[in-house]
Amino acid sequence: MSEVTTKPKKPRGVASLINGKCIACGARCQSSCPVNCIEMTDSGEPIVESAKCIGCLKCVKICPAEALEMYFTPEEQKILSELASLSGGPTEDELDEEGQRLQKMLAEYRGVWVVIEQFEGITAKVSWELLGTGADLARTLGVHLSAVVLGHNIEHLCNEAFEHGADKTIILDAPVYKDYRTQPYSDAICHLIGKHKPEVILMGATAQGRDLAGAVATVVKTGLTADCTGLGTDDKRNLMQTRPAFGGNIMATIMCDKYRPQMATVRPHVMHMPETEPGRKGDIIRETFAPLEQDILVKVLEVISDRDGKNQVDVAAAEIIVSGGRGLMNKENFVLLQELADALGGVVGASRSAVDAGWISHSRQVGQTGKTVRPKTYIACGISGAIQHMVGMQDSDVIIAINRDPEAPIFQIATYGIVGDLFQVIPALISRIRNLKMNNGSYEPELVAA
Ligand SMILES: Cc1cc2nc3c(=O)[nH]c(=O)nc-3n(C[C@H](O)[C@H](O)[C@H](O)COP(=O)(O)OP(=O)(O)OC[C@H]3O[C@@H](n4cnc5c(N)ncnc54)[C@H](O)[C@@H]3O)c2cc1C
Ligand code: SF4
Ligand code: SF4
Repeated sequence: MSEVTTKPKKPRGVASLINGKCIACGARCQSSCPVNCIEMTDSGEPIVESAKCIGCLKCVKICPAEALEMYFTPEEQKILSELASLSGGPTEDELDEEGQRLQKMLAEYRGVWVVIEQFEGITAKVSWELLGTGADLARTLGVHLSAVVLGHNIEHLCNEAFEHGADKTIILDAPVYKDYRTQPYSDAICHLIGKHKPEVILMGATAQGRDLAGAVATVVKTGLTADCTGLGTDDKRNLMQTRPAFGGNIMATIMCDKYRPQMATVRPHVMHMPETEPGRKGDIIRETFAPLEQDILVKVLEVISDRDGKNQVDVAAAEIIVSGGRGLMNKENFVLLQELADALGGVVGASRSAVDAGWISHSRQVGQTGKTVRPKTYIACGISGAIQHMVGMQDSDVIIAINRDPEAPIFQIATYGIVGDLFQVIPALISRIRNLKMNNGSYEPELVAA
């Protein structure tokens, strides 16, 4: 009789947290566990109930920080070594069917896209800013950066895109794309995604970009992170999308590791404008997809532009901003700010408190739910410096804060701080600027503050 040797059963182990690696991503591990054996601590880290763990590996695979591993007892380690020697090598955990499908799908998507926003052939500056960010991402991922240009008679934008850093442009030029409409633009981008399969798509967080990105993400069934303030990648090619969360009190990094493309919008002035390289060339891919006009439900009857409107002030584009907050006390006192702004050749902005009080229009609001600005000089008058205000102006070159409270948080990010009553300080500044202008013909805002 021959001896029958049975192969020992491969132990599954139990999940265990590696100290210091959890980034408190929001309990992905807990929601992935099929037997509910993970509890979360107040600081957002998992505690695994070992007795209940069935070693299914789901939490280990889903963790974006590789913070979980399988723990094997010394006896189980021994069995694993035996199995390894029987099979002639270490036992690799084979990907299950779902894992293999995911790997294959992820590998099909390559390249970084920036959707170029234009109106009557003139590009929104945020699109060029995003080409700068897109170029960094493409370099890290080792892929091409493509600008996607949609519109009618917009061929000239291809060269502008190359000069701002695009390696390729994908152009759809047809009468149906003349004016922005959600349906044809979204159909077009979805068609291009299906054909070219980019892994990352960036759009400006403008009215148009927000509308288009949301529509596209819904159709192609992928994730979209709005209003990102930082973008990077991890070693698995996931886009790490950072944005304020919980009312701006924390910064969250969001990833979309199981769907492609990864989509993000970024507000104007958040990213740096890249250096242009005049004469730079790239590949133009001309696409012909165009929905039929009769199939589009929305018709543009007239475009009413507010570009030349006398009362329209683009705070986001201004180089000098004088902003007022609740410290201004009332609407009438904004005349004083206007006087200072006029003397400096700038525009008036505001905190949300001033806007909510009805002292100035919402179009002037700076901050998380207003405009993001990056002027050369930002003068904050009677503004305390709430985080929601600061995220919208903290990248200004020079920040001058005027506040009677020496402990006001705005002083923490101010280049120059003036502790005092704004109703005394501002008239003094206006008179100093006028004197400097009279004597020198020019002035530097920092000089005035000093
Ligand atoms: C989800 C969310 C989104 C938000 N989005 C925004 C946003 O986009 N932008 C924004 O600004 N806020 C936003 N906020 C509101 C924000 O939290 C603050 O409430 C707001 O910024 C405070 O405005 P403020 O600094 O003008 O008023 P306050 O915080 O009341 O500060 C007034 C300041 O004026 C000073 N002051 C008073 N009198 C004088 C004087 N005579 N001379 C000098 N100084 C004086 C005071 O010392 C004080 O520091 C948001 C809040 C939430 C929850
Ligand atoms: S290995 Fe599976 S059963 Fe164990 S904690 Fe992780 S998800 Fe739950
Ligand atoms: S999935 Fe990973 S990073 Fe997220 S909470 Fe669990 S252990 Fe922490």
